Amino acid sequence: MRLLIVEDEHDIAIPLKKMLENIGYAVDFVDNGKDGLQSVLTNDYDCILLDLNLPEIDGINLAQKMRNQKNNTPIIMVTARSQMYDKLEGFESGADDYVTKPFNISELIARIKAVIKRNSPNRDNILKFGKYEVFLNQNKIQDTTSKKEIELSNKEIGILEYLIRHKNSIVSSEDLLEHVWDQEVDIFTETVKTHIKTLRKKIDPEKKIIKTIRGKGYILEQ
Ligand code: CA
Repeated sequence: MRLLIVEDEHDIAIPLKKMLENIGYAVDFVDNGKDGLQSVLTNDYDCILLDLNLPEIDGINLAQKMRNQKNNTPIIMVTARSQMYDKLEGFESGADDYVTKPFNISELIARIKAVIKRNSPNRDNILKFGKYEVFLNQNKIQDTTSKKEIELSNKEIGILEYLIRHKNSIVSSEDLLEHVWDQEVDIFTETVKTHIKTLRKKIDPEKKIIKTIRGKGYILEQ
């Protein structure tokens, strides 16, 4: 899951980014509306945390521009308490939900999960493939035959989730970098390869599940 924070107050945005990353999200952060719009139009996010008052383009304007361009990424508008009366305007702009500052982190996380789920009704917290069940929220996978459980890291589970959701089609390293990592990842490193390797070691030592298609990427066939 990849999130974007558009927030001009670094004191709020940076700790928030860190907290969300700690629980497994890939998080990008920009501090003005113009960069926000640019990021939204070039990347594929699962949810956007959008401050209301922003330099360049404000939150409402940005949301309207997104919706005008048929971009339906869920938006959670973040407003100061004194701007509560703007709530309605926020919803009309196309925001899916809103929180007031100072917000409670667990409430925010619950809202992020809720808007993402609403936006994609097929997203389950448990994915199945072959004899395995993948528990996305608990970073683990279970072999339903032997009942053996295997712990996975945030990135490993992110890769596996993406491959399962796109099973039977080739997924390139770039696709994985785009959806599982944030924009600070160095695209010239072997990071995808390394994580595929550790993932295989845990769940697929015989390379029967995740196949490499030379020069193109990976495929999970079922
Ligand atoms: Ca602000």
